[in-house]
Amino acid sequence: MTGNSLNHASLLAPEWLAVPADLNALQDPLWAAGVARNDAGELAIDGIPVSELQRQFGTPLFVMSENDFRTRARAFSDAFNDAFADICGGVDVYYAGKSFLCTAVVRWVEEEGLRLDTASGGELAVAHRAGIPGADVALHGNNKSDGEIHRALDMKLGRIVVDSLAELERVARIAATRGETAKVMLRLTPGVHAHTHEFIATAHEDQKFGLSMAGDSTDVAGLSAAEEAVAAAAGFESIELLGLHCHIGSQIFEPDGFALAAEKLLRFLAAMQEKYSIVMPELDLGGGYGIAYTPVDTPRPPAEIAQAMAAVVRSTCAELGITAPRISIEPGRAIVGSTTFTLYEVGTLKTVRVDVPGPDESAENVTHPRRYVSVDGGMSDNARPVLYDADYSAILASRTSEAAPQLSRVVGKHCESGDIVVRDVYLPEDVAAGDLLAVPGTGAYCWALSSNYNYLARPGVVAVRDGSARLIVRGETEQDLLNRDMGV
Ligand SMILES: *Cc1c(COP(=O)(O)O)cnc(C)c1O
Repeated sequence: MTGNSLNHASLLAPEWLAVPADLNALQDPLWAAGVARNDAGELAIDGIPVSELQRQFGTPLFVMSENDFRTRARAFSDAFNDAFADICGGVDVYYAGKSFLCTAVVRWVEEEGLRLDTASGGELAVAHRAGIPGADVALHGNNKSDGEIHRALDMKLGRIVVDSLAELERVARIAATRGETAKVMLRLTPGVHAHTHEFIATAHEDQKFGLSMAGDSTDVAGLSAAEEAVAAAAGFESIELLGLHCHIGSQIFEPDGFALAAEKLLRFLAAMQEKYSIVMPELDLGGGYGIAYTPVDTPRPPAEIAQAMAAVVRSTCAELGITAPRISIEPGRAIVGSTTFTLYEVGTLKTVRVDVPGPDESAENVTHPRRYVSVDGGMSDNARPVLYDADYSAILASRTSEAAPQLSRVVGKHCESGDIVVRDVYLPEDVAAGDLLAVPGTGAYCWALSSNYNYLARPGVVAVRDGSARLIVRGETEQDLLNRDMGV
């Protein structure tokens, strides 16, 4: 196929990957607002060229648009508040801090009227340092320590999301010894698992999170773990039971799974309110809203998801004859994921020959080239391809090119053959050492999951706002890498 200018498609490319009509163009849903090529053809954010960012901050570098973060945060808040206004007066949106957390981000979250979801004492420490009121913070986790529970009570958290019966008892006891009341939600497993385009519904859960809603999941005859926890919570004086919580998965595009989970939880909530003569005023439907990593991903606008969920909450509450609880949601990826790209410098290039079956059965194997483009980071700054087989996309950022598309694999510099940044992408044939590549969609679960494998320093995060760039997390230095080595 080489030399055929009409078709540069490689037999090694996955079916979903099309040869872009224009290799220099930024494909739309993947990039933050404010990212565009400048007149010289270089990628720029709010007018700041990537070469300038590299000069100031080095590579690899996470480059984040603060305006885009704020816009996406507001978009979720506005869409859900509109859709639920007449059902429960609006929605509380908790940004899931585990996707990307630092004090600057906590302040943006607060300034945009959102709240904050945390999952550990360390994340609470960041929230505390940023100065967000504890009332606007939630704490998750399937294995909270006593220290974390104390910290949550010290900070007077708005909610502790309890994950097991044993933890409920522990929270009740710790709050009682302090002479306080803990605000608690119970995390349930509704048996709805969603993944991207489908969801599956099962009675029993086989995972570590939450309290099972299946009827025979405890020693107490006929009671589910979820019901046993509701009954226990209602009986503890040191527990204020706010309501129920679920989180059905991540990177989900279709709203049906969220809607089914909402319906299941509402039915359970109504039954428990009646049986135990209690009121649970809140229902949290978790996060998991998907984003575009490649051009074939098709995330829905927040309004579409909000309306689908609102329709189910409205009709289910009407059918059950209950007052709708106050709804909350916990988007992480969908707020921060697309705000950020990672900037890398290209180093070694290598083309290997790969045998693939010929076009028809009788034909012999044909050999196809695959080009490996090494960059100065890798699995230490983006573990998602290794962890989840996640796909990404990349473009040549430091310049445009009129060269032909070549199927490429962007890889890191770690001693690991699985160290892949972008498994399959068409890049210009003339990409060379010293060029800059940008990988979009790296705002969520990349910096957060970063490591020091091979003693690589973790990259910094730059926030760009209204044409100026500032470090919100500095990159590590060699001294940082050596700091904890006791040398004894
Ligand atoms: C991870 C997580 C979220 C956020 O998930 P996203 O896919 O980033 O939206 C929300 N709630 C809980 C309980 C989580 O564990």
